[in-house]
Amino acid sequence: MIVCGGLLGLGWATPAAAEILRIGQPLCHAVSGVVAAEGAEPPAFSCSGEPAGYQHGTLWLHAMLSPDAGIVAGERDDLSLIIHNSRFDRLIVTFFYADGAVERQEVRSGDFGTHWRAGGQLAFRAPHRDVSLVGVTMQFDKVASARLLRMRLVERGEESTQTTGLATLIGAALVLLLAGAIYNASLAFAARRQFSAWQSAWAVCMIAWGACWSQLHLFFFPAMAGAISAQICTGLSCLAIALATLTAVTALEAPYVSPWLRRSALGLTGSVFALGIPLSFMRSGPIDTLGSVLGVLVLANLVAVAACIAQAWRRGSGEARNFAGAWAVPMILLGSTSFFDADAMFWGGGSQILVLFAAAWQTLWLSVTATRSHALLRAERDMARQAEARAQDLARRDALTGLPNRRGFIERVGTVLAASRTRGEPVALLVIDVDWFKSINDAFGHEAGDMVLERIASCIAPHESATCTVARLGGEEFAMMLAGMAGFDLMRFAESLRQRIAEQDHGAVIGGRKVTVSIGMATTSGAADFRTLYRLADEALYEAKRAGRNQVAIRLLEGAEPYADDQDLAGGQDLPGGHDLNLDKG
Ligand code: GH3
Ligand code: MG
Ligand code: MG
Repeated sequence: MIVCGGLLGLGWATPAAAEILRIGQPLCHAVSGVVAAEGAEPPAFSCSGEPAGYQHGTLWLHAMLSPDAGIVAGERDDLSLIIHNSRFDRLIVTFFYADGAVERQEVRSGDFGTHWRAGGQLAFRAPHRDVSLVGVTMQFDKVASARLLRMRLVERGEESTQTTGLATLIGAALVLLLAGAIYNASLAFAARRQFSAWQSAWAVCMIAWGACWSQLHLFFFPAMAGAISAQICTGLSCLAIALATLTAVTALEAPYVSPWLRRSALGLTGSVFALGIPLSFMRSGPIDTLGSVLGVLVLANLVAVAACIAQAWRRGSGEARNFAGAWAVPMILLGSTSFFDADAMFWGGGSQILVLFAAAWQTLWLSVTATRSHALLRAERDMARQAEARAQDLARRDALTGLPNRRGFIERVGTVLAASRTRGEPVALLVIDVDWFKSINDAFGHEAGDMVLERIASCIAPHESATCTVARLGGEEFAMMLAGMAGFDLMRFAESLRQRIAEQDHGAVIGGRKVTVSIGMATTSGAADFRTLYRLADEALYEAKRAGRNQVAIRLLEGAEPYADDQDLAGGQDLPGGHDLNLDKG
């Protein structure tokens, strides 16, 4: 929100500067109530007070260029007159020379020819003659406001430097604004942030204003030269104020700003808009008075928005701090132009250049803070997701052994079964139960029992892989779901697992006592659900227990690959064949 006279083109109170021509110092003025006829002499000039009644007629401004006027140092006959204003119908510039010769140049609204310069300026070069230039007269037909006219006399060499420098400055500011506009638009789209959308719209508006004020738009729309551009500029500046207010008001979260303060800011923006837009189309009438009223409204709007930010900051809003950072520098910069003359600065770009750079600064600052808060939000969201995933995982794991619990196992098993079914792979469920575990607890205590369970789990856990999922189903019962293994390989795997557990050394924990497990196994290569497999594996386990424990028993479901009778599983021992099978190592 760069709200100032510079943006509105309402002029500034400035002290005298050597090359600036102002009404009264050194310009004298004359007015005719109707448009003067071609070649008509002006009425008597007055060198004090303000001209009046020129809006429907002609305004003459005349400056004597005597050496004691001290207007411009250097060559008097190598001068350019630069005028920042195009709200008139016709302008005739006349240069007077010491020998009585007169040179006349004329432009009409919408047709500035070679006089047009970037930065919305018109340049009139006094043709070089061997005698001195003694005076210059500007004759404006239907000029909108004499107060808004800004004129300078500069040396010719200086004129090209100034116009090039100004064009570069304008280009740089517009590029910065464009970057801010694109970035905020993508942020608004990606993060669905209303505030970024308004910020982007504001930046686009400032680009349009900058292009219009600097008349760069004439490259693309030459027909817009003249008063229409100046009018669009005023309209755009009012729109910019409205968009900036909307940006701030939508960015500051509801609980941080009182509703009445929010409503005041929006109401004042509405008034600025309601007055500014018709004012921008006015060519005559009380433009100066309405301009002053508009200036006051703009100031009030600024104060209301500043109050919103201050209140939100006091209530702890982070967004308010960002806004204060974005606005502080431009405001100090622009506020200070009330105390020094900015009109002649920046190669004639004056306070409008400050407005453009301040707008670019603000948009870039807000882009940076928006990116930072967006990144923080993402980091927080990622952390919350990780914490949730950890909690989910913990709920599916057994606290003692770290293996998946029954719940985790059943969830994983569903995926394994579905994948094997589509691939047509065999699956096997192993239920592993510790033998005589109660007696271990009874003899060595519950804690020793826990340590034994942990050690058995450490034998089972390494088998966890893409094709094997393991679990502690509860108590001293473990499980394994294996995919892609059948027949002899499966049997040998179960047997080696049983053996490894049986050979484990539990040392002093249970006084050198060996711990064995019985394994019940169910396998199929057809479709099977977990319930069925579990029932069969449990039956097989019961068989293994009944047959003396420390052994593997198997149940084959429909389609499972049977074992060859003569296959050696372990220690060269022959296996019995058939559907139910026990490997007794007891
Ligand atoms: P079997 O060979 O027939 O399986 O006999 P068992 O003693 O192993 O079977 P039973 O079902 O009679 O006893 C299981 C015991 O496991 C009973 C219970 O106290 C013990 N237990 C269950 N969960 C835990 C645990 O988390 N830690 C310890 N230390 N003991 C447990
Ligand atoms: Mg048991
Ligand atoms: Mg047991």
